[in-house]
Amino acid sequence: MRDFRTIPLWKDVTDEQWNDWKWQLKHSIKTVEQLQEVIPLSLQEEREIRGTLTTFNMAITPYYANLIDPANPTDPVRMQSVPSLRETEINIGDLLDPLDEDVDSPVEGLTHRYPDRVLMLITTVCSMYCRHCTRRRMVGEVDKHIDKKVLAKQLEYIASQPAVRDVLISGGDALMFSNERLEEVISQVRAIPHVEIIRLATRMPVVCPQRIDEGLTEMIKKYHPIYVNTHFNHPNEITPDSKAACERLANAGVPLGNQTVLLRGVNDCPHVMKKLMHQLLQIRVKPYYIYQCDLSRGISHFRTSLGKGIEIIESLRGHTTGMAVPSFVVDAPGGGGKIPVGPNYLLARSDHLTILRNYEGVITVYNDKTSGESVCGKDDACTDDRYLIKKGVARIFTHPEEIIEPSHKPRILK
Ligand SMILES: *Cc1c(COP(=O)(O)O)cnc(C)c1O
Repeated sequence: MRDFRTIPLWKDVTDEQWNDWKWQLKHSIKTVEQLQEVIPLSLQEEREIRGTLTTFNMAITPYYANLIDPANPTDPVRMQSVPSLRETEINIGDLLDPLDEDVDSPVEGLTHRYPDRVLMLITTVCSMYCRHCTRRRMVGEVDKHIDKKVLAKQLEYIASQPAVRDVLISGGDALMFSNERLEEVISQVRAIPHVEIIRLATRMPVVCPQRIDEGLTEMIKKYHPIYVNTHFNHPNEITPDSKAACERLANAGVPLGNQTVLLRGVNDCPHVMKKLMHQLLQIRVKPYYIYQCDLSRGISHFRTSLGKGIEIIESLRGHTTGMAVPSFVVDAPGGGGKIPVGPNYLLARSDHLTILRNYEGVITVYNDKTSGESVCGKDDACTDDRYLIKKGVARIFTHPEEIIEPSHKPRILK
């Protein structure tokens, strides 16, 4: 990270301005001319960026732009923030809404895919437009906060669904709202009796750590339990500023999780990922997910094979602290949701023996014979509607007669 005042564009900026998130947003880099003042661009790059900006906006906070090493054309921060002409390529298999978020949406901007939790998209705006954004169909094209009437409908829907106990507030970036407007949303969600936990999804600690101000943490404290999931992709994003932002949240009692996207040329390496996971734990952020790069349009140059993610998990599990090992998930196209994939540790099974291997390749035998009775069926939880499993593979354990079959099958099983 350079001293920002060595860059002519920011030579007169005071510390106070630099540390003010509103100043950061207002002075985000949105044009080729501004970008040229921060990092050198070849004529060709300049032309390419102009070509891309007609389809997907650019916005880079001065703080984040200042993390770019100007001498490195493949700098990981640069790759995530500076447009590439490859974004205009549409590949076979690319989808506009790969996760069918709009299909599973009973109300505009709200996705209800899992039985007990919903995703609220409250804005299409971000302080930094990730070049690998999965919600390109809405984010970075038209900048807008969700209409108050639509927001009211989202809240009404959640209130009408007693099974919803977990509400994710995302966007865009949930923290693009002012503290006051965000409090309006959070307080209304919190007022719904069946909502147990609230999660905020934001990349601000990474791209605009100044956003995590005292007003925000004091407000959040009033509505606990609130969790924050953020989005660090590379160790270079962990700086004294981002560390301080995470610490401010952690000190306000907010458990922090991280959702990394596996990106070719940025973090598709077990060593880089291990370093990232170690450094996250040091700033009190628990690695939660590594995502396979989605099938959204214009991001195929970032995509790796699934095997790369599995290799990364193989390189973490056992080799390092279990807390440093996130789940590698594929968000299934067509609204299938997140599917964890990883190395196979279960090699073989018989009636009573399970053959397992560990990270070293040592093969062990686990004797499955058990005795005594299970608590299942005797605890209050076993008859409580909130905890019963109503669908899915796990349902078959208690209802083996209820097999799952595709609806288009020519032959119906009896
Ligand atoms: C990711 C996601 C969730 C939350 O999933 P968790 O595995 O609980 O973190 C909820 N709804 C939608 C639509 C999602 O994409």
